[in-house]
Amino acid sequence: MASNPPPLFELPVTALRGIGERQAEKLAQLDVRTVQDVLFHLPYRYEDRTRLLPIGTLRPGTEAMVAGTIEMAQVRFGRRRSLMAYVRDGSGGLWMRLFHFSGAQQSHLVKGVRVRCYGEVRAGPTDLEMVHPEYRVLRDDEEAAAEPCLTPVYAATQGVSQHTLRRISALALELMERRPPPELLPPEVLDAMGLPSLVEALHTLHRPPPDIGLQDLVERRHPAQQRLAFEELMAHQLILRSLRKQVQHQDAPVLAATQRHCAPLLEALPFDLTGAQQRVWEEIARDLGRPHPMHRLLQGDVGSGKTVVAVLTLLRAVENDCQAALMAPTELLAEQHWQTLEGWLAPLGIPASWLSGKVGTRARRTTLADIAAGRSRVVVGTHALFQEEVRFERLGAIVVDEQHRFGVHQRLALRRKGEGSGLRPHQLIMTATPIPRTLAMTAYADLDVSVLDELPAGRRPVETVAVPDSRRDDVIERIRAACAGGRQAYWVCTLVEESEALEAEAATDTAGRLATALPEVRVGLVHGRLGPADKQAAMADFKAGHSQLLVATTVIEVGVDVPRASLMIIENAERLGLAQLHQLRGRVGRGSTASSCVLLYKAPLSDIARERLAVMRETNDGFCIAQRDLELRGPGEVLGTRQTGLARLRVADLVRDAALLPRVEEAGTRLLDHHPERVAPLIRRWIGDGLHYADV
Ligand code: ADP
Ligand code: MG
Repeated sequence: MASNPPPLFELPVTALRGIGERQAEKLAQLDVRTVQDVLFHLPYRYEDRTRLLPIGTLRPGTEAMVAGTIEMAQVRFGRRRSLMAYVRDGSGGLWMRLFHFSGAQQSHLVKGVRVRCYGEVRAGPTDLEMVHPEYRVLRDDEEAAAEPCLTPVYAATQGVSQHTLRRISALALELMERRPPPELLPPEVLDAMGLPSLVEALHTLHRPPPDIGLQDLVERRHPAQQRLAFEELMAHQLILRSLRKQVQHQDAPVLAATQRHCAPLLEALPFDLTGAQQRVWEEIARDLGRPHPMHRLLQGDVGSGKTVVAVLTLLRAVENDCQAALMAPTELLAEQHWQTLEGWLAPLGIPASWLSGKVGTRARRTTLADIAAGRSRVVVGTHALFQEEVRFERLGAIVVDEQHRFGVHQRLALRRKGEGSGLRPHQLIMTATPIPRTLAMTAYADLDVSVLDELPAGRRPVETVAVPDSRRDDVIERIRAACAGGRQAYWVCTLVEESEALEAEAATDTAGRLATALPEVRVGLVHGRLGPADKQAAMADFKAGHSQLLVATTVIEVGVDVPRASLMIIENAERLGLAQLHQLRGRVGRGSTASSCVLLYKAPLSDIARERLAVMRETNDGFCIAQRDLELRGPGEVLGTRQTGLARLRVADLVRDAALLPRVEEAGTRLLDHHPERVAPLIRRWIGDGLHYADV
């Protein structure tokens, strides 16, 4: 027998009449490659052309379809040349106004011609008008019939018109009728939730009947939309859950409690663990003692003390004769960790190494050899740790700090690092981005979650104010006073453009200006363009109190820990998201002195910026801030699709559809238990063959 043709749903778009290679390429820019993609490319809004409205009943600000006869047409030469045609039906008249028009339009839009137009009605200078309506000239005998369904409006792109998209969605719907794709959601789930079948849902969304609740559609709350969102979320959940399952069948070294390293470290710390640190460490230690790899996410607000927990995890591996690695997303943060760790590991006699992309070739060769031979027990570094040539003798545990900078792919790449020994390393992923529970259930369905929900005692909330840029001089005085009183301050320069070079330039300028304005203050400078040695030196100076004001770019956003610094100025604060503001502000308030943060902004503020600054003034609680951030921006930006297990969502929206998530989890379990054969097709339908996930 010949191999099966691809399921109809997976045919390339070129299978549709009128779509050649050229159009296919353009459609690919919309991520539309198959017939299924056409069907999943849902309209983002609809137009109601199902009714012809009498012109006399129109109100400005509404969209309407009307039909009538042109009573007069002329080209007007006002401030802008325009072609005006006055259209009248039995009830009234309005102007069609075209600013751009061809000679052909001028010759067919003439007195006596009947037209049907659809557009937004506006109050013109003399009468109602429609500017650039979609219109059609009607033939003599033609009825000005209305459309049978709402007209879909799709996201289009250069070279792919609305017309094309409507045409191919009609063709795809026809194909779907003839050979419907399998229904993968269990009927009992659909029934219980009152959701339509896949075929029905797609039909409804591409060609909604006139009596559909348009408001529901607009708010994406229609059952047809919910049904697709539900199925999509389920696919994502299931792939992460299958990942988790695979992991439970993998072998990891058993890291049991010994008295060798963890206990002496705890002994040597100048503080006691908080209750939360203790609890979380117990959760982690329990996982480490099992013969399967731990995959645990540690959530803890900035300053909650994640580093100690990380180090305990590393030491538990080392005391069980394994190696351990700590990875951070930026050079600067990795260096900070390296310094902290050296201080803790050296007294315990544990040899450690440092690896980053900027380590020179010779030093690198030595380091790699030390790691491979097991001479180095703890390795601290950046992404450089992922690289092929980094081989461990026996890697027992990996800690990834501030994982919102790490993608799921990197998370997976890491899991392979233990392979030399045939064992998978345990993994702890740390993040300061608190994620609401329902969201975590989906976004991190492959991980267990621990939460550090307590700050070390004695911390005082950072007092935060928003100050317009016009009062910059006052802010400078404030720094002068703070430094005179023995305090230290950060000044963070931010730009909207993602340009390290421009940001570095701005920081350098600012540092110069501040040094002039504050001659008695020693000003340090750190930005992404500095070499590692200079960066390290600038940080070390600041840490030691040699410099009192550190001008920096957002390179200091994560991880930097200088407890004595207690004043933070953030420039262009109105341009930053809440998560970033919270991270930056988290650099102060780490000791027991009262700290403050000045959000410098340029007026006028947009509504959303005003809202953000207000949130920052009101609370220091990362969890509240994350919740507000979700509401203001949506999860894509809060989580960053890169950092969750989720690939791009087509239909669902984690915030809008959050209420579905508990049901998604339930239905996922049901599918796994009762219809396991549907799991793979479901994942395939929404995520593709998941190759990048499969190879764990
Ligand atoms: P983060 O969770 O932001 O990474 P860190 O681990 O950098 O926080 O800890 C912030 C500061 O709090 C550090 O200076 C650290 O030494 C200190 N710290 C951590 N745990 C405690 C504790 N239990 N009691 C007092 N200080 C602590
Ligand atoms: Mg940290």
